[in-house]
Amino acid sequence: MSTGFDYAALLNETVEECRPHAERGQLPSYIPELKKGNPKLAGIALQTTTGLFEAGDTRVDFTLQSISKVFSLLVAIEERGPEAVFAKVGSEPTGDPFNSIVKLETSEKKPPNPMINAGAIAVCSLIPGASVEERFGRIAGLLERILDRPIKIDEAVYQSEKETGHRNRALAHFLKDINCLEGDVEEVLDLYFRQCSILVNCADLARIGMFFAAKGINGAGTPLVSARAVRLVSTFMVTCGMYNGSGEFAIQVGIPAKSGVSGGILGVVPGRFGVATFGPALDRKGNSVVGISMLKRISEVLDFSIF
Ligand code: GLN
Repeated sequence: MSTGFDYAALLNETVEECRPHAERGQLPSYIPELKKGNPKLAGIALQTTTGLFEAGDTRVDFTLQSISKVFSLLVAIEERGPEAVFAKVGSEPTGDPFNSIVKLETSEKKPPNPMINAGAIAVCSLIPGASVEERFGRIAGLLERILDRPIKIDEAVYQSEKETGHRNRALAHFLKDINCLEGDVEEVLDLYFRQCSILVNCADLARIGMFFAAKGINGAGTPLVSARAVRLVSTFMVTCGMYNGSGEFAIQVGIPAKSGVSGGILGVVPGRFGVATFGPALDRKGNSVVGISMLKRISEVLDFSIF
């Protein structure tokens, strides 16, 4: 079926033009396993209602990292309700790095938002279940229903982060002290490290973006979460999804998006399509350099800023 627009050509040109920008970024070194990534990889995928369009390295698996925060937040909102969630986590962006501890003591004694590590760890503690496996099953289960396939984690990345995640451990203990973390600290961290290690590729992320764009309805037409939860999470993606780079990203690209330190960006063009990029070299804020330049380029061409 003709789509009326040559998306394939646009995406190919975009990858070729933006791939060299990886030189401006660096692989993250604080999670040893991620340092082994290939900074030259670059991929972009677009999932519309008529099909999937992709160019570059869209079938290379990588770990969700912080992109996983949107799924645990969806699950927590659905299972516990927004009031219970926002009793433990705030709704304000910060100008601080994603792993900063500073606001926990100086602000309102709760993590400022669910897209930074402290907030996401608090949200993980709210996922119901008798064991870590059961709780993880709720997050992975949602992804499985969105993607219609089984979910796996990258064991090496999971172990790497579990062994070296001292800052996340510090955040979690601080959260426990200020009554923003329910249950056992190590179990909550285990759940957080597992969700960060979930494997996806860029094409998967575009499908996930379409699920958000369709207000929580998967490719088979099944509603999986409420439109209200999708609206809340998409709003956080606009205000905090790219951490302290969210303002500039809103100006340059203008869509709800969520980045992760392994180089993925999940983007949502509400009511229209899902768009995703992959490029492991990161800027100083922990966002993919190539990903942002590709999104900026196609946002201009397709005129998809929501603002
Ligand atoms: N697992 C990473 C961490 O906790 C996720 C951070 C990210 O992707 N920005 O540090």
